[in-house]
Amino acid sequence: MNAVRSDAETFDAIVVGAGLAGMLTALELRPRRVALVSYGSLGQWTSSAWAQGGIAAAVGDDDSPALHAADTVAAGAGLVERRVAARLAADAPHAIERVAALGVRFDREDAHYALGREGAHSRRRILRAGGDATGAELVRAIALAVHASADIVCYEDSRALDVVLDAGGAVAGLTLRVAGDVRTFSAPCVVLATGGLGGLYRFTTNPTSSRGAGIAIAARAGARLADLEFVQFHPTALDVAADPLPLVSEAVRGEGAVLVDARGSLVMAGVDAALDLAPRDVVARRVFALRQANERVYLDARHVAPDNFPERFPTVFDACMRYGIDPRHEPIPIVPAAHYHMGGVAVDLADRTNVPGLYACGEVAATGVHGANRLASNSLLESVVYPERIARDVAARTFARVVRPAATRAYAAPVPGSDAEWRSLRDAMYAGVGVERNEAGLSVAIERLNAIGDASPSDDVREAAVVGALVAHAALRRRESRGSHMRTDHPERSIAERHRSYSTLADARSA
Ligand SMILES: Cc1cc2nc3c(=O)[nH]c(=O)nc-3n(C[C@H](O)[C@H](O)[C@H](O)COP(=O)(O)OP(=O)(O)OC[C@H]3O[C@@H](n4cnc5c(N)ncnc54)[C@H](O)[C@@H]3O)c2cc1C
Repeated sequence: MNAVRSDAETFDAIVVGAGLAGMLTALELRPRRVALVSYGSLGQWTSSAWAQGGIAAAVGDDDSPALHAADTVAAGAGLVERRVAARLAADAPHAIERVAALGVRFDREDAHYALGREGAHSRRRILRAGGDATGAELVRAIALAVHASADIVCYEDSRALDVVLDAGGAVAGLTLRVAGDVRTFSAPCVVLATGGLGGLYRFTTNPTSSRGAGIAIAARAGARLADLEFVQFHPTALDVAADPLPLVSEAVRGEGAVLVDARGSLVMAGVDAALDLAPRDVVARRVFALRQANERVYLDARHVAPDNFPERFPTVFDACMRYGIDPRHEPIPIVPAAHYHMGGVAVDLADRTNVPGLYACGEVAATGVHGANRLASNSLLESVVYPERIARDVAARTFARVVRPAATRAYAAPVPGSDAEWRSLRDAMYAGVGVERNEAGLSVAIERLNAIGDASPSDDVREAAVVGALVAHAALRRRESRGSHMRTDHPERSIAERHRSYSTLADARSA
């Protein structure tokens, strides 16, 4: 057992996660003294750094926050919180200016931002940087700003374990594993910015370390979770022997690439009026169904940007060439992969959870803005909008000056999960809690997840199994198909189910 060191450091706030949401929150909290905790170095193993397409904001002359909010509501299949969408869209232009002031170099055309268009956006409103390397540019500039800040103490190569509460149930600090020790830092507020959970699935575009740790930490502290069943699968991850899988951005289809089978037949014909630009979930289901029937599916981009594909899509081109696929001369093999989690830790309009002093932002938060399906490029946006709000809320609240963590539990020395355990867990999630679900498949997945968790000596595997089971139970309870959640045994949308869903830790083992 690791004893918890008692020489507790004291901070004004602790932020867990050094992707876009976490780093920006730490910056916005200045001049408060902040601890920033992350698995790797700043920006390493984050979805933020891998984001390609861009970030949505109504900054064009023909656009408005009201139009942006309306598109967000339409994409969310009846479950978007309208007030939340309106505020996100309204705050977007200002948030873009704030990150630009931190040194982010967005692509420009003349004096204006270059604006792209993506599926389900009614206007050109996608800002990008470095062509298709938007996330990398955001992370580069913001990590530099964090490193330059004397108020932020970075604990890289560390792992948050548990939020520590005081006797009244409010946040008093965080227990973390840092440099081989388990330590407890004191702080009256903790912000979880731990990203998504794609790493729970056999095929994912996320860092494999994105396994919903923030959901587990929040749930153990008594926080409410929301909308867990809604996992967005990207239809066009590169189908190669890699883990995670490189993403082939939707922008390639936006420029005319089409999905074909091994014989070259168009696979979206007759499926949706928008053909290859149909909503992500529709395309993902079609590709999944063909693969279930042992068909391979390809993205044919041979006619796209014929003169400058490598310059127009540098990230996609490099990824393909790394695996010996030249997209200029051959179709790109693709597979649907877990990409984005709409659900997470339930927060209110101020990003507060129901645990006093505990906040969540970025992908781990469930604000209600995405409903059952995220509008493309709204996730980087929420990661840049919410940090300022959290900082304002923290500044306006009176927290106890001295917080006293209640006793913390002892932690066993870390045992990594074995390859076989991770494979079984991730296969169970992809097969039973994936693109298509039904009662029998979900029940099998829950049994397998429980069995894997119960048998494992690894805290990591046990935690991942609990998060997976929470997602599966939420999917089992929603007896309808809506947005990203497709139940083959309940294929219709149900008016009775038109509500958000909520879970707590106890639901991981519910009957
Ligand atoms: C390939 C790809 C392309 C994408 N493209 C776009 C796009 O074009 N536009 C868009 O809007 N969105 C896009 N997304 C989604 C978007 O990138 C993410 O939703 C967003 O970046 C999430 O940011 P975040 O800060 O919440 O999490 P992340 O960037 O994933 O960061 C999570 C952080 O939490 C840390 N962490 C987690 N658990 C712990 C723990 N227990 N202890 C310590 N640290 C922990 C990790 O180390 C990491 O630092 C894309 C996603 C992927 C994977």
